[in-house]
Amino acid sequence: MATGNINVTAENIFPIIKKFLYSDHEIFLRELISNATDATLKLKHLSTLGEAKGDIGAPIIEIIVDKKNKQIKIIDQGVGMTSEEVEKYINQIAFSGAEEFVEKYKDADTGIIGHFGLGFYSSFMVAERVEILTKSFKEDSKAVRWECDGSPQYTLEETDRTARGTEIILHIDDDSTAFLEDSKIKELLAKYNKFMPIPIKFGTKEIDDPAHTPETTKDKDGKETTEPQQKITVDAIINNPTPAWTKQPSELKDEDYKSFYHELYPMQFEEPLFNIHLNVDYPFNLTGILYFPKISKNIDPQKDKIQLYQNQVFVTDNVEGIVPDFLQMLRGVIDSPDIPLNVSRSYLQADGAVKKISSYITKKVADKLANLFKNDRKSFEEKWEDIKIIIEYGMLSEEKFFDKAGKFALYPTVDGAHYIWDELIEKIKDNQTDKDDKTVILYASDAKAQHSFIQDAKEKGYEVLLLDSPIISHLIQKLETSKENISFVRVDGDHIDNLIKKDDTKISKLSEDEQATLKTVLESNIPKETYTIQLEPMDSSANPFIITQPEFMRRMKEMQATGGGGMMGMGNFPDMYNLVVNTNNELIGEILNTKTDKKQERLIKQTFDLAKLSQNLLHGEELTNFIKRSYELIK
Ligand code: ADP
Ligand code: MG
Repeated sequence: MATGNINVTAENIFPIIKKFLYSDHEIFLRELISNATDATLKLKHLSTLGEAKGDIGAPIIEIIVDKKNKQIKIIDQGVGMTSEEVEKYINQIAFSGAEEFVEKYKDADTGIIGHFGLGFYSSFMVAERVEILTKSFKEDSKAVRWECDGSPQYTLEETDRTARGTEIILHIDDDSTAFLEDSKIKELLAKYNKFMPIPIKFGTKEIDDPAHTPETTKDKDGKETTEPQQKITVDAIINNPTPAWTKQPSELKDEDYKSFYHELYPMQFEEPLFNIHLNVDYPFNLTGILYFPKISKNIDPQKDKIQLYQNQVFVTDNVEGIVPDFLQMLRGVIDSPDIPLNVSRSYLQADGAVKKISSYITKKVADKLANLFKNDRKSFEEKWEDIKIIIEYGMLSEEKFFDKAGKFALYPTVDGAHYIWDELIEKIKDNQTDKDDKTVILYASDAKAQHSFIQDAKEKGYEVLLLDSPIISHLIQKLETSKENISFVRVDGDHIDNLIKKDDTKISKLSEDEQATLKTVLESNIPKETYTIQLEPMDSSANPFIITQPEFMRRMKEMQATGGGGMMGMGNFPDMYNLVVNTNNELIGEILNTKTDKKQERLIKQTFDLAKLSQNLLHGEELTNFIKRSYELIK
């Protein structure tokens, strides 16, 4: 038996490792299963090259929990190690990895992703003593046993194991006995190893014996009895070694994508809207499947997130920095060995490979959306409500995506039509271009509340869009600055004739003097802190008073409410309105010509309240007074 000292500078690095990763102790299992997987894949590879002789069978990995003896065993049938290899890979290389880790992170306290390539030595996070029993696949190699209690001393000796492969025995520390529960191990296997490429056995299970078909017999009365199904005991394999994303898109049908979705998120009962299969091998390696879920108001962004894998090993479901922000509401899997994980997030965002990955994903998603739109416009339009928030957010946050979105971003109308940008402009250009040559895009945010304004616009043959996302004012602002000669106005922003000003100016029925008098009379009856009075000669059939909110003011407030930069304080601004007075309406003439103050005041108040009512601005005491006054008027 040989004993030796492991060459480390730190006298005892394990307490430090433990402390560092105190919240992430559970990764030991993932690391050891990864090593077992690597060893098995290596053996398979050597076998195909003819370097590993004989039939290697169908190797699996087995996990055994022995609660009584406080042991967890990870057993593989892979390449194994010779005594020299244990010296080299375990004593020197693995240790130096651990050392490097401690060096690198001893000053760091935050911002590190909770998964390091700490490897084999992470076993000391849960074990007070670790044994390795291993026999190399190489002919005539002797089995060896290595043991270490976490101090730099180890022992290495020959042993009489005959099976090829490696068995890691963890003697679980008293502070980690939680890992001796089957349920805990099952949970970890489901979290980290569900899609690893080598079958992983944990315990056994009973299934119906496929060789046995229960017989049904009839007794003399014709009563049927079926004998019980015979059961057999088989290995319980906890993983699917060939998950959908490892296959070629041509091998998969729509149902396969859907069933993989549910395999990935067993608690998710809704169907995804569509999926995007990612598959690149140059200039980086990445595979995966992304799903567009239905985005509803009460979606929980913390649930069922995109999962990041490296060679089928689960790493994290925090893909910040790797997947562009606007796509983080998607679901699915990304698998890439090229994402550096043992670094901080700020480093990650500056990393060239990661940037390429992020822009590749953006491009793939944009292409897929363009294709869906082109190939099946109707179904794309139907899905728009559910996906628009992601697309609009993407248009706002990624310039490249904004450019591409011209091909598929939809602008729905209040009548249920859907246009892409160019179609929309083509459609409204002739009728909705004002005297300054600006094409005015009318939109509503609430078809019910803005009904009368929408009606007025429609009577002129104008199209009214229905734009109701929470971030729409930001997008409108962006469209106005990127496209030429267009502007958006909400349909209730002013009287329709003022929203799209054509040349035909109307003549007022009132003289200049009369207008001045009218203004004074109105001003003494209407609170001027909130309402700016604006006299307009309009169609005599148009309402006498119209309350509007200036587009600019309203939009700034909305943007501020949904997090717009540079407009701090706007959200606290009082609401300001315009009171547009139609000087050509008969009632306005009557107000002007009513000589008794009392009667005049009553007419103004009543007309004003009606205008407020149509904008849902009449509440409380004002409403009570209005009702009282109305009764008096009809008496
Ligand atoms: P890494 O896996 O990143 O190389 P580890 O610390 O996990 O680092 O493992 C160190 C080395 O020990 C591996 O590269 C491998 O050569 C060897 N090793 C670990 N576990 C096994 C195993 N189950 N079978 C064969 N070799 C192993
Ligand atoms: Mg490893």
